[in-house]
Amino acid sequence: MTCQEMLRLLNEYIDGEIDPSLCAEFEHHLAGCDPCQVVIDTLRRTVTLYREGARYELPAAVHDRLHAELRRRWRARHGGSATSGTDAG
Ligand SMILES: [Zn+2]
Repeated sequence: MTCQEMLRLLNEYIDGEIDPSLCAEFEHHLAGCDPCQVVIDTLRRTVTLYREGARYELPAAVHDRLHAELRRRWRARHGGSATSGTDAG
């Protein structure tokens, strides 16, 4: 698994489609990748906080902010291009 694949998984995580803690490949990548650990740790805490308040569905505004924040942190950590495709952001 690459860092970019991680980023894609995390987007699904924000969408509530997967739980990264259930994914062995996810954990395996984290074990060897410092930048991803930092980004994911922050993201997990944020998502958990919101979900405790909102059951499972994230409000659309929060959802959008998380996606944007994820990409921003990711770029800061990985130093460049972690996007692919149709994002105008
Ligand atoms: Zn990584």
